This record gives sequence, structure tokens and C-alpha cells, in this order.
Amino acid sequence: MYPKSLKSIHKLGQKATEKRISSAWWSKRILFDARPADHLWFLSTDFPPGEVWDAYRAYNEFLSMQLADAGLDRQSARVRDCANRLFFAQLLNPETGERGLKLVRASFCHYRHCFICQWRRSLRAKAILMSALPEVLRKYPNTRFAVLTLTVRNCPIADLRQTILSMNRGWQRLIQRKDWPAQGWIRGVEVTVGEDGTAHPHFHALLMLPSSYFSGAGYVSTKKWVQLWKEAMRLDYDPYCDIRVIKPRLASPSSCDGRETHLDAVFGAVSEVAEHVTKTEIFEGVSGAVGYSAKAEYLFHCEPDWLREYVRQVHALKFLTSGGVLKGIFKDVREGEDKDVLRVGGKASVEDWLAYCWQPKLRRYARKRDAG
Ligand SMILES: [Zn+2]
Repeated sequence: MYPKSLKSIHKLGQKATEKRISSAWWSKRILFDARPADHLWFLSTDFPPGEVWDAYRAYNEFLSMQLADAGLDRQSARVRDCANRLFFAQLLNPETGERGLKLVRASFCHYRHCFICQWRRSLRAKAILMSALPEVLRKYPNTRFAVLTLTVRNCPIADLRQTILSMNRGWQRLIQRKDWPAQGWIRGVEVTVGEDGTAHPHFHALLMLPSSYFSGAGYVSTKKWVQLWKEAMRLDYDPYCDIRVIKPRLASPSSCDGRETHLDAVFGAVSEVAEHVTKTEIFEGVSGAVGYSAKAEYLFHCEPDWLREYVRQVHALKFLTSGGVLKGIFKDVREGEDKDVLRVGGKASVEDWLAYCWQPKLRRYARKRDAG
């Protein structure tokens, strides 16, 4: 099952939660009593993006149960307590009269596999990438972006760590080759699960390719990528590889400054990638590069033994790296984890804060209705 939209993510989370709701484990750990909904204002009603919070928090309920089943009680408790309360400042745009909410305080668990924390980390990584791009594109105006996927054969879950470490060594050999074409790159590791329970670690990389890549001798076909990766990994079989170039949008005909037009087009293409990460395969590729280590559907459907082993195998492995002219851009991804929520934006003051609590039975964030 591969949920595409948030709606289906939410549904999956609800279904999963309903499946377990009667278990003894669950009933002992209810944090808030569900009150009748007419006493509550929902976050998703006050603020439509709140639906995303509901969905990820519902995910965490189930992940917490999965972790408990796997005997990881401490981690289970951390995930269950992540972002139980969200404080939003009310913002008012005096010009348009538009009302908005901005998160100002929440307490996060920072557990590596927590859905909320992973989601926020991937948002931060995308924001860092997007803020670095204008400068990068000024320096390399003719660069084009491509998403490269590199895989190896599935391995038993017990060999996952060794497999990822050997892929890291393979990647190092690959980027040190004379014919390595990219000026800069971002690379993420993703692990999916085969039907037989084997692990399928693979790399998604966003590459910056010079214009020479597309002219004659510099071009690397998919077949050539397979060969390069096979040699770098010292494999005796042809691994599956995929390369997709991101096409810049067509510049508007009214625009006359060639250089700026190109920059706009490339920037436009990349911002689309970062903003609409689930729309096409390319977007999924980039999402993979900055997103999750293992997608929710795998963690939801795996056996407790598998999950326990997965957590052990990937412990302290770095999944998001960058190099070339993008080297080091993510060094602050983790350090900035709480900073963004402590800044109050706009003209909002402390009195304007609204507190939403997670309602496990309703699977939504809600606040009490104001009296009257
Ligand atoms: Zn968390």
C-alpha cells in the first residue's frame, strides 16, 4: 500500500489506530479524554495546513505502538509524547486582513524515526536548499539539475548496515572518478522493504550538471551510469540505476534578459521540485534525497523483529549528505531544530497564542472553545 495524498496518509493512520485501539497497551496510555467535538475548535478548521499536523501525529500514534511491540519502550514513549501540544501565534496581515497561524512553541522528541521530527527536518532541509540556490545559480548559471537513483540488490535486514556502508564507499569511489560529471550534489539514503522482508537500501541524489554534460562526450547515459555504479561498487551484476533531468520551465516570451530568464527557469523548476514533492517521480526522487529514511508504509507493515533490527542497523548512520559546490549546506539541519519554532513572526504577541492539544481518540489537534 503506497498512500499518495495526505488524505490517504491520514486514512491509513486512522485505520491502523482503529485496529489497535482496543488493545490493553493502548487503553492504559490515553493522555487526553476526548471531549465532545462541539466543545472544541480543531486546528485543521482554524488553519487548513493543520491537517498535515493531524496526519503526522496520527502516524506517530501507530509508530509508537509498533516500537512498543518491538520492545523499544523508551523510543515508543518519546514518539508518543512528541508535539502533544502546539502553540500557535495568531497573525493578522493589516493590509489584506488575512489571518494566519504560526507555530511558536512545541516540544519535539528528536527521535530519528519520529514522523513529525522527520517531516520537520525534511522541511528544513528543503528550506536550506531553496535559500542556497539563488547564490549557487548566480555562480553556475548554466547548471541543470537531475535526479539520480542508484540501487543494489536487496539484502537481509541483518546486513543492512554493512550494505549501506559499502554503498557509501562505492559513492566515494564514484565521485572521485575523473568522469564524474556533477558540480554539486545532495544525496539521501532510503530503505524500502521487499515482499520477502529483505531490505532495499538505495540512494537518491540531486545532481548539478554542467552544460558540457549535455553536449557529446560528457554525456552519461543510463547504461553508462549502470556501468559506473557497478565499477564503483565492484559488483558482478548490473545494478538498477535511473537518471532524470529536471527540465526548466519555458521562459515567458515577454522576458528579454536571457541570463535572468534562465536563472528564473531553473529556479522555478527546482522550487517546484521542493514544493510539490509528491507529484511525479522526479519530485519523489528529490523528496527521497531530503526526506525520510524509511517511508511510513514500511514501518507500519513491518514485523516487530524487523523494526527492532532496522532501528539497530541504521543507528547513527548519516543519511543526508552533500558535496561539490553544495558541500556542507546541511550542516545546520539538526542544530536549528527548535530555533524556527521559538521565533514569533509578524506582529503577534504572547497574548495571541492558541494552544492545541492532541486528542488521541479524535486523532486531531484541538483547543477548547472560547466561553461565549
Ligand atoms: Zn518527534
